[in-house]
Amino acid sequence: MNKFLETGTILFLLLWIVFVYVLYMLPEDNASEAKAFPNSDTDISIEYELEIARGRQISLLDDESSINPLNLTCKPESFGYTLEEALFLFPNVTYPRCEEQYISSPEAFYINRTDNTLHMNCTGKVALGFLEANEEFGKYWYYDRLKDYNGEPLALETEEYAFGTCDISKWSNFEHVAYKLRPNKESLQRAKNSLRGKPINIVMLVIDSLSRRMFFRKLPKSVEYLNSIAKNVSIFDFKLHHVIGQNSQYSFMPTFYGDIPIVVSEYMQGDLYYDVSIWKYLHERGFVTMMGMDNCDNNLPQFIGRKPKVDHKMGSIWCAASAQYGYSETSKRERCIGNKNAHAWMMDYILDFSETYKNVSRYTYMHIDTAHEETGTVVSTIDLDLKKFLEEFFSRDEDSILFLMGDHGMRYGEWFKSKDGSHEHKLPLLLIMAKDRVLEKIPNSSKILLQNTNRLLSKFDFHTILQHLGNYPDLESHREEIRTKTSKRLTTYNWFTDYVPDNRTCEDAGIPIFWCGCKSFIEITEDKNSEIFQNLTKSVIEVFNTENHIYYRWKKTICVKLHLNETKYIGKLEDEDLDYYKIKFTIKEKESAMFEVIVRLSRDPIEKHESEYFSVHKIDFGEMKFFNIMNVNRLDSYDSICKEKIIKRKFDPTYCICDENDFKRKSLNTTNGNNSGKQ
Ligand SMILES: [Zn+2]
Repeated sequence: MNKFLETGTILFLLLWIVFVYVLYMLPEDNASEAKAFPNSDTDISIEYELEIARGRQISLLDDESSINPLNLTCKPESFGYTLEEALFLFPNVTYPRCEEQYISSPEAFYINRTDNTLHMNCTGKVALGFLEANEEFGKYWYYDRLKDYNGEPLALETEEYAFGTCDISKWSNFEHVAYKLRPNKESLQRAKNSLRGKPINIVMLVIDSLSRRMFFRKLPKSVEYLNSIAKNVSIFDFKLHHVIGQNSQYSFMPTFYGDIPIVVSEYMQGDLYYDVSIWKYLHERGFVTMMGMDNCDNNLPQFIGRKPKVDHKMGSIWCAASAQYGYSETSKRERCIGNKNAHAWMMDYILDFSETYKNVSRYTYMHIDTAHEETGTVVSTIDLDLKKFLEEFFSRDEDSILFLMGDHGMRYGEWFKSKDGSHEHKLPLLLIMAKDRVLEKIPNSSKILLQNTNRLLSKFDFHTILQHLGNYPDLESHREEIRTKTSKRLTTYNWFTDYVPDNRTCEDAGIPIFWCGCKSFIEITEDKNSEIFQNLTKSVIEVFNTENHIYYRWKKTICVKLHLNETKYIGKLEDEDLDYYKIKFTIKEKESAMFEVIVRLSRDPIEKHESEYFSVHKIDFGEMKFFNIMNVNRLDSYDSICKEKIIKRKFDPTYCICDENDFKRKSLNTTNGNNSGKQ
């Protein structure tokens, strides 16, 4: 027995020595690879990476918890409104569904593409959409192409949509609408001839004015659905997708053309930058392209032209819908066009387009304006339609990538004057959802994408990525060439193949300082209390006092006049002609109140951005300068008996201080009065 044990011990020791020897003889980088995951590039099973991407649930507060612990050069000071602030500003509203307002069905009114006819299941009248040759973006007059309908199929020319009614006394608000894509044989043939490999379907679904936090707050059903996708699709939630300017054009211009000047064109003809456009590039690589934008105005054409040479445009219906239904892309109500919301027609068109051209590659840019209004609540009408679209899109058996994104956050009303509001505008939504079979063809893409979800992204990166994806699945060829094609002055990254560096700054990403969410101020310690800085802080307080004492007949102030107590901090940031200052200070009227304000100063008159709240003033700052407040933040918690009263009177509680004793005395008197009444 003892002998057996001895042999066993010797054998165990021998095995241990062999094991330790093998471990030490392993190449060093392999050993460190295994320890260093998830930052390593090689030797990791793709299955394992995908499991990680799949296992992550997307969630509202992921931004702070993911970004704040990282050692990044650019970390925004805020990611947007707190839940409490947001619920107060944008309460939950339930809007009526369009199918309850217009009774119709796919059988009652439809376009048959086999024989190119329009069908309605009654007699009445129909208004036809524009002919394909007239399809373009921008504002123009829609004249009714009205016809009687005698119950027989009506032959169409090149129209893609029509409205219909069984009630001949009606002139608008027809109950039936049909929109059916008309296949373009030439586009299909061109794409077949130039296709380089397996086709891919790339969709950019842009919800205008949708911040990341707004998406999570207002579209809970879509979020729930995305968190339940278990098979075949990986989702990446990018927390530092940053704006480079105020409006849509600062998003779509870099996406479509790379780094070219953003200018307003008076003439709006044709396709202004076709030669550098992403659609030209993709056409040469087997793609059919489509673009839609649900508005009847010149915002887009002023920048890109009225007729970009994409294969399909969804443009004229919105002017027709303005005439038929009083449709407006800034309406504060649900936007019904017949029995579907405007955005639902666009989503259906993407599915129609995806199916029609399934044998070649496809690129869609669809710009939805449902959130483009000032209440911040109409966006919730997208939720059910988006969930349905996502289900159908990902059930398609194809290689596909969907960019679900905002161009910027809300920029209406007074949101810019608070730090949380101005930051929410800076951080629009960006989810990239990709079929696993796409990611498997791009080495290490899941791991790289996952890391990039927490890195500063540039709008210019989109152009690089789309060009790369145009060569799918070969993303290695011409990698550097594509990068420099996008921009000569900036380094851009493909988030599928390149790790975005931790130290990327706003400047590196092409984000002007004014719009940068992570301005790095340098503290001024020595002359913080000098006369000029005292003067600056007093001027800021003067602006507060003016705001607080604007007297309207119906709006009498309850705010007391504020006086500077102490300047706690001054930080400075220089930019070409402007200086930015961050000031923290207290006031005499309430010791616990601490303010943080960012101001701009300039020798020359300051151009005020469209949505900025505070106006420009003059100040003696050693010499006469112009200044304006960018945003104001309260660093103390300012819940008090006054806050409610101030909000009720429509003053801003951030910088209005009221006399609490006043209300305490009044409420005491009322209580005493009530008590005495009872007695
Ligand atoms: Zn926009």
